Order: sequence, then C-alpha cells, then structure tokens
Amino acid sequence: MTLDELPTPAVLVEKSALEANIASMQARAEANRVAIRPHVKTHRSPSVGRMQIDAGASGVTVAKVGEAEVFAKAGFKDIRLAYCVVGTNKYRRIAELDERVRISFCVDTEVGATLASDFFASRGRTLNVLIEVDTGQHRCGVAWEDDEVVLLAERIEELKGLQYVGILTHGGYGYYGPRGDETKEQALRRWSIQERDRMLDVASRLKHEGFAPGEISIGSTPTMRYFENRVVDGQTITEIRPGNYVFNDLTQVGLGVASLSDCAQTVLATVVSRHRDRDGSERFFLDAGKKVLTSDGAFGQDGFGALLYNARTMVSLPHATISNLSEEHAWASVRGGTTVAVGDRLRIVPNHACVVANMQPKMYLVDGDDVLEELPVDAQSQST
Ligand code: PLP
Repeated sequence: MTLDELPTPAVLVEKSALEANIASMQARAEANRVAIRPHVKTHRSPSVGRMQIDAGASGVTVAKVGEAEVFAKAGFKDIRLAYCVVGTNKYRRIAELDERVRISFCVDTEVGATLASDFFASRGRTLNVLIEVDTGQHRCGVAWEDDEVVLLAERIEELKGLQYVGILTHGGYGYYGPRGDETKEQALRRWSIQERDRMLDVASRLKHEGFAPGEISIGSTPTMRYFENRVVDGQTITEIRPGNYVFNDLTQVGLGVASLSDCAQTVLATVVSRHRDRDGSERFFLDAGKKVLTSDGAFGQDGFGALLYNARTMVSLPHATISNLSEEHAWASVRGGTTVAVGDRLRIVPNHACVVANMQPKMYLVDGDDVLEELPVDAQSQST
C-alpha cells in the first residue's frame, strides 16, 4: 500500500528515522554504562516499545497504571511507573500487575508513602518504590537539596509493604531552553549537568546515611542530548528514561536537540480548500486540526507544526506556517502565494509528538511513500 491510499489525517512514522533514533539513544546509554528504560508515553504502542527492547532497553517507563496494564498484557516484563501513584484503585491494579511483571512506582511525600504502605502491607505484599526527587523542574519530587529525601527514605524503611529501591528525577527543565547569551548546546549541557549532579549529590547523602545506592534514574530527551555519566563518591547514574527521542518533534528541533530529518513522526493531511487574500497572500486549509495536531506550541517556533515540501529530504514548504487550528482544520498561510493545490497531500512535523500519538488509535510505519505496517496505539487514552 502507498500513502495515496491512506485516509487522512494519518499519523506516519518513518522507519529509517525511528530506527536511527532508537539506535543512537541506545548507543549513548551504552557509552555511558547506563540502562535505558524509554518512556513509552511518547508512542503508547507496544509495537514501538518492542523495537526499543529489541535494541537493548532494560524495560519501559510509563506514567499511568493503564499504560502499565496494556504493556504488561503485550508481554513487557519490567515496567517502571515514573509517577507518584496515589489511590486505592491504582494500588489494587499495581498489586495485580506485581503478580505478573516486575513493577515499581514513585513516592515523594510521607502521606503518599503511608497510604501505599497501608494498602500493600494489609495484603501482605511489598512493592518496590523510588523516591521522586525535584532537581529543578518544581513539579513533583522532594527538593534535591533538602534533608527531606533522607527523612523520606528512613520513613519508607520503617513502613511495611514498601521496599526502597532508588531515586528518580525528570529533567523537564531541559525544555526551558537557553538563558541570556547561551547557545542552545551550552544550555542543553548545563541542564544535563544539573540533572546528573543534583542526583549524584542526593545519592551521596543517602549513602552516608546508610542507604544502598540502588537505582539512580534520570532523563528527558533534551537532558540526554549531551549526557555524560560520572562517578561521585563511588556512585553513578544507573538508568536513563528519555521518551520523546524515539520520534522527536518541532520542540526538539527548536531546542537544538534534533534536526528536522531526525523527526520520525509526521501527520499526513489533505488540502481541502485554498483562498487568496487581498494582499496577495494565500491561505489553504488541511484536514488535520486540534484533534490531531493538538494545540501545543513548540519552543522557538511559530505556529502548529512544520509543513514539509519534501518528506524524503525533510525540506519545509517555503514561507508557509500553520498559523491557526480549529478542531478539524489546520489554517496554513503562505506569504507570496503557493503552488499547493486542493487535493494535495502534505506531511506535517508536529510540535509535540507524544500528544499527537495519543490522538489516533493507530499510526502507520512508512518508508517514504510505502506503508509498511500499522502501529496500533494500544494504550491510547490510558490515562488512569
Ligand atoms: N520521565 C518522566 C517522569 C517524565 O515525565 C518524562 C516526560 O514527560 C520523561 C521521563 C521523558 O521525557 P522526554 O519525553 O523529554 O524524553
């Protein structure tokens, strides 16, 4: 089958770029002697996850219990919930998963740890937990510079039903980009060092309080771009958890993490209308709106995705921007006119690949114009 036969909008994944992204992150992990546990929220597709495992990943990372259930059902044996899980329904489902797969989750408060402990201890089970550490993103996590990390580790040791296995952070600040006169590369290196060194500092303090190092798990696609492991006080990062790298997107391009040709995921859309404005500029409309491209922006980029002139060479359509989206339409504006005609099909590199993957029940693995296979998004909308 070729692209012409696909109904649009369709989410495509270019095989060569996907394989190259998986291989290069795997090589980076191996060069730094860390396990790689990709965050599968980016694709929510066991078919893609299997390629990551086949390339050498130690297991997978998920955010939601529902994702863990889908991946466990698909045969994945080692699943880390990089999320502070709270709630009886979720503990019950984790306990069920624990009978079949190796599973761990995060805690970052004494209350959260106690709630989980009460549930699992009363059922005679012990679950592996990591302490989530805030190394600067200020989302969840115990502040890295605080005594609270040690206090929480001590508390977990006292609590029945939980086994402390390590610390985990997400360097989400890698998405903040450069400061002042910094280049993009300098910023990515600085954020990467921050994530690594703050975690090694925490690990060192825990070690001095008698806690075995265990897992020291870090990662985001931007902070992994220039990641270099190091040894501090006999301890080293043990695991990285990038997610977005498997596809990349316009955000990674804007940050200097990837180039357009590293973007494996595109959205194929059809031009359904075209009009000329009084000032001579053209507007044309594609059949992929917010419900496909989502309304996420991208760092340092205008609009809602990059329209490609040539998807083989990943060259963008000159002077064109997707300036607006409605639910079912992308509004493209082109300065100085365009040869794009109603009926043409264009590929768009989205701003944020992880949310786009979740918008459709399946993606298509392609090699240029050839459709190779369907990639079902089996964990689509699994957000509980
Ligand atoms: N770990 C956690 C806890 C995350 O929240 C995320 C992303 O949201 C990742 C890892 C992967 O980050 P990225 O998609 O930037 O690779």
